[in-house]
Parts: sequence; C-alpha cells; structure tokens
Amino acid sequence: MTDLASNTMSPWQATILTLFPEMFPGPLGHSIAGKALQAGHWSFDTVDIRSFATDRHRTVDDTPMGGGAGMVMRPDVIDSAIASVAEAPGPLLYLSPRGVPFDRDRAHDLASQSGVKLLCGRYEGVDQRVLDKWDIEEVSLGDFVLSGGEPAALAMLDACIRLLPGVMGSASSLDEESFERDWLLEYPLYTRPADWQGRQVPDVLLSGHHERIRAWRLDEAKRITAARRPDLWHRYQHQARQTETVA
Ligand code: SAH
Repeated sequence: MTDLASNTMSPWQATILTLFPEMFPGPLGHSIAGKALQAGHWSFDTVDIRSFATDRHRTVDDTPMGGGAGMVMRPDVIDSAIASVAEAPGPLLYLSPRGVPFDRDRAHDLASQSGVKLLCGRYEGVDQRVLDKWDIEEVSLGDFVLSGGEPAALAMLDACIRLLPGVMGSASSLDEESFERDWLLEYPLYTRPADWQGRQVPDVLLSGHHERIRAWRLDEAKRITAARRPDLWHRYQHQARQTETVA
C-alpha cells in the first residue's frame, strides 16, 4: 500500500453535515477504510448542524407546515451549516429515500473527484426551500427508510473509499467484484478444505485450468444475475450486445 501522506496529493475529503458527528468515522475507522484513513488516502470533517441553531434551546426542527406527523429540519439552520462548507471539495448531496439510487457508477464518479459533501437528514427530512436554494442533488441508498442519513453516508463513503487509488491491495480484485464487470453479480466463492462436511468445492476450481475456471465463473455469474436480478441481467445483455465483448 502506498502511503499518500508522504507525497503531495491531498487526501480525498469527506465532509459530513449531521446532528450526530460522533457517528463518524464509526465503522470507517476500521479495516480497509480505517487503514486508508490512517495512511492519508482520505480524510473527513464533520459539521455539527446543531451548532448553527440560533435560539436558546438550540432548535433544529419544527412542525410540518400543513400539518402531519413528525418534525422538519429548519431551512435557516441547514442553510448556515451548508454555507460553512462552501469551500470544502466535491459536490453536495442530500441523502434521501427520494433520491437517485446510489450505485457503482456514482461511487466511481465521486471517488474520481476531490471529495464529497453529504447532508444527513433526521426526523421527516429537510425543508424543501433550502434544497432548492443550493440546488442539492438527492441520493438514496435504496428503497427503504432509515431513521437518519448517517448510516447511508457511512455506506456510500465506504463504497467510494475502496475505489481510491492505492486503497485496495490489488486492482484486479476490484475488477472481479459484483457489478464491476459489466454489472454481473459475483460467482460463488470457495476456500479450503475441498471437502467440508461432505460438501465439495466444484471440481473445475481444483483443475488448475485457468481458462476453464474463468469460463465457469462467468457462467455462474450470469446464472446468478439472471436468477436474482433481471434488471441487471438485461443491462448486461444490452451492454454485451453493444460491445460484442461477451467473454
Ligand atoms: N420522511 C422521509 C423519510 C425521512 S427518514 C420520507 O418519507 O421519504 C430521515 C432521514 O433519513 C432522511 O432525511 C434521510 O436523510 C435519511 N434517509 C432515510 N432513508 C434513506 C435512504 N434510503 N437513503 C438515504 N438516506 C435516507
């Protein structure tokens, strides 16, 4: 692993606007992301949204205009928090179940920039006017509702960090991952022993025949993708037709 701290490149910078700064780096302080953090491949800054509250009670939310359940994050407080990170690198995204689904392409796009700024919502979400004012793009982790943007931010940052140059040991291990190769899901994985509780590793993997192993893995990846994710399977077939590179 190259140590970027020793050269002149500045680390990829994550700026997180949140009511819970203590949630960061959280899981990103461990394992691959944690080592990359220590090595200076990325760094992060949290902005405590509550520190921009102006009243005595440090209020950040208010009841929904028009009625209804829950609370809405106040535009004035969020606006000040956003203004405070105007100079931080990268696009500003609001994590939201209403957003464009986060995927491989977005992870690559963000990893190739100098960083990202993530606005984490809580309660019912953020007053629309502040999203409009800053023209903030909304990005979703998936079709479910989290109780806050922080877990989504952690997941998205993890996906970006592992793509930063030098973070993963070997570039080829990245290429083999689910989605990285033409949107196919990964083939089944096995390790020793070859016989475990009477269950055998497929013979082909013991053959030492690299071409046959590659073909088997591709077939399995196709089989699993077609069975589990028709959406990705169609995408794969479409791409394969266009590039004529069906291996
Ligand atoms: N009332 C909203 C849900 C609010 S959940 C709705 O019905 O759409 C509170 C916060 O959690 C949101 O502001 C958002 O920042 C975050 N959040 C919830 N689900 C998310 C998801 N799938 N992806 C990204 N962020 C999410």
